[in-house]
Amino acid sequence: MQAMVYRGPYKIRVEEKDIPRIEHPNDAIIKVALAAICGSDLHLYHGLMPDTRVGHTFGHEFIGVVHEVGPSVQNLQVGDRVMVPFNIYCGSCFYCARGLYSNCHNVNPNATAVGGIYGYSHTTGGYDGGQAEYVRVPFADVGPAKIPAWLTDEDAVLCTDALATGYFGAQLADIVEGDVVAVFGAGPVGLYAAASAWLMGAGRVIVIDHLDYRLEKARTFAHAETRNFAEFDDIVVEMKKTTGWLGADRVIDAVGAEADGNFRQVLTGTKLKLQGGSPVALNWAIDSVRKGGTVSVVGAYGPVPNMVKFGDALNKGLTIRGNQTPVKRQWPRLLSHIQNGYLKPSGIVTHRLPLEHIAEGYHMFSAKLDGCIKTLIEP
Ligand code: NAD
Ligand code: ZN
Repeated sequence: MQAMVYRGPYKIRVEEKDIPRIEHPNDAIIKVALAAICGSDLHLYHGLMPDTRVGHTFGHEFIGVVHEVGPSVQNLQVGDRVMVPFNIYCGSCFYCARGLYSNCHNVNPNATAVGGIYGYSHTTGGYDGGQAEYVRVPFADVGPAKIPAWLTDEDAVLCTDALATGYFGAQLADIVEGDVVAVFGAGPVGLYAAASAWLMGAGRVIVIDHLDYRLEKARTFAHAETRNFAEFDDIVVEMKKTTGWLGADRVIDAVGAEADGNFRQVLTGTKLKLQGGSPVALNWAIDSVRKGGTVSVVGAYGPVPNMVKFGDALNKGLTIRGNQTPVKRQWPRLLSHIQNGYLKPSGIVTHRLPLEHIAEGYHMFSAKLDGCIKTLIEP
């Protein structure tokens, strides 16, 4: 089969690989119908995540058709059209029992924090991902769900991460009626977080980025106010000013580690070395929120972001929350919002590329070329 293969930072190829096989009785093999490139894939592409191995296939946003099931799989049948959450989890450990699917203890017991994720380096289990013609899905009775007939492939694939994460970012912000909500980052996650904030009662939603074409989307898609941080000497001062010098009630960091920031991991020989720097958006979030407010962090930082303003966060009495999204927990609400027309996931899709052209997709998304917001991949 054809699969996207990582060959080192900024090097993506499409190569021939064996079709994955059932390795455990509860595995399924999915024939991928549609996949996507996530902002999180860019951290891998930029070489920012530890233990990203050459030869690995990325892709944690995908949907498809069940091609084969292991002998103990009960809920899926060959031919079913399924959506697969990006988390790989057992469904029965201490964490899964509490809905913390992204922290499953069984799939990745060596990790201190995160559970399993498709195509997301060996720090999340080393599972190959879905930017390929086929993918192996462990615990097939737990994560995947049949796609309702009324849901389009595009909307379904966006539910496997980006939409669920934007919605989760707004949930973690603890929004109450009338709140001023600021969202740093106008990528897919930030746009969905802004749209979701209204559903949770926000009184005002402000999206901050430096890419005008994305801020335009924040106005039209998410009906948000926008600020281009490059147009201000100090975006934090602007955020204070526009909120009566209080700060926003809730701030969502939908940026995470930025490749062009001064925070990157360098490969020296075979050893990975972290070069420190400051997570800009996270510190802006801490500075822009009012005292006693909430900072929700769904932007991914991977290696510990040192130099976070933790002292200021403490003195301001902030609540800081974050996690990898427990995707399946969001689906009942997301599907009902999509069906009722309150959320329109495909409204941010800008490109669809065949798998053979995925390297162009990564380059375009990374460099933010050609108005790129969300790119879908067709195997
Ligand atoms: P993206 O790269 O499309 O969007 C990031 C946006 O942030 C870009 O538009 C960029 O211009 C903007 N930006 C950069 N620096 C900024 C700053 N200092 N202030 C404001 N905006 C800034 O990526 P995406 O797909 O929207 O993903 C966003 C983040 O969410 C990534 O870090 C990704 O890894 C993370 N993520 C987390 C989860 C989770 O489960 N927690 C899931 C999916 C994605
Ligand atoms: Zn993702």
